[in-house]
Amino acid sequence: MRQAMFTAAVGDDVYGEDPTVNRLEERAAAVMNREAALFVPSGTMGNQIAVHLHTRPGTEVIGEEGCHIFNFEMGAMSLLSGAFPRPIATDDGILAPEQIEAAIQGKVGYRTPTSMVALENSHNLAGGRITPVERMRELIAVAKDHGLPVHLDGARIHNSAAALGIPAAAIAAGCDTVMFCLSKGLGAPVGSMLVGDTGTIEDARRIRKALGGGMRQVGVIAAAGLVALDEVLPELGEDNRRARTLADRLAEIPGIKLDPETVETNIICFGFDETAKHTAADLATALADEGVLVHALGHDFVRMVTHYHIADDDVVRAGDAVARVMA
Ligand SMILES: *Cc1c(COP(=O)(O)O)cnc(C)c1O
Repeated sequence: MRQAMFTAAVGDDVYGEDPTVNRLEERAAAVMNREAALFVPSGTMGNQIAVHLHTRPGTEVIGEEGCHIFNFEMGAMSLLSGAFPRPIATDDGILAPEQIEAAIQGKVGYRTPTSMVALENSHNLAGGRITPVERMRELIAVAKDHGLPVHLDGARIHNSAAALGIPAAAIAAGCDTVMFCLSKGLGAPVGSMLVGDTGTIEDARRIRKALGGGMRQVGVIAAAGLVALDEVLPELGEDNRRARTLADRLAEIPGIKLDPETVETNIICFGFDETAKHTAADLATALADEGVLVHALGHDFVRMVTHYHIADDDVVRAGDAVARVMA
């Protein structure tokens, strides 16, 4: 990636003249089987542009309660778009069509109107859970029956696709817009893509500029995104496999509460049983001393993620370190 960045041809992307960005946008659209794509600095900006395009101030966005758009984007959908969350609780991050049906507000004069449905696949906070393709179809169908646009936060959709053995485009089919990250599992230093039809992406380009996301000779960054799609994307199944191997090991460690069957992609979220002597923060600190970085997401809730730089022996080492610290 560094080499590709060093040699990248560039131009002014605000004028549409950066050949590397143009190549990346064409490539991303093709990967998702859509007409057009827009390079954005972050997944958050991609999601928020979509929210802005699909909503009006004073309307509701339906989403799973743990979704990134509601929890980790600094309230941006109310800050930037005046939109209001309608969170739906699930056990596993996977919405049911009846839940969406029930959450859609009727067109009556005393109900906040629903403007869009937001899906997330894989679901980060739910431990990288996959909403299966058939369920995606059902959820999208309910939204469409009510004339509602659907945005897919597919920050990690290529991990879902690798796990299911199908193209990401097949998972995302029928969604009006899809965001996926070139960072995260795909390993690029910066950047995400928003994809959709040509008109939608033209509008998105206007909103991106309004948000300060119009970048000039940004081909130096886009070049890494192309390497991510060409070279890292085909390898994501390995990250998923390693996460499952690690989960199998972690589940055997006394004090840890984890069903390895729920580890479908490259994210492992686990809790503790009553015998555990640590909080998540204690565990994270002790593991950092052992050279293993994990995220304490709550008092007794830990997230571990495998990625391009984590090899088979790293997984063994991480499992050993967790076992030592837990003991
Ligand atoms: C990381 C992530 C985002 C946002 O990406 P940033 O580039 O960090 O803004 C959005 N959705 C999900 C599910 C994510 O995991």
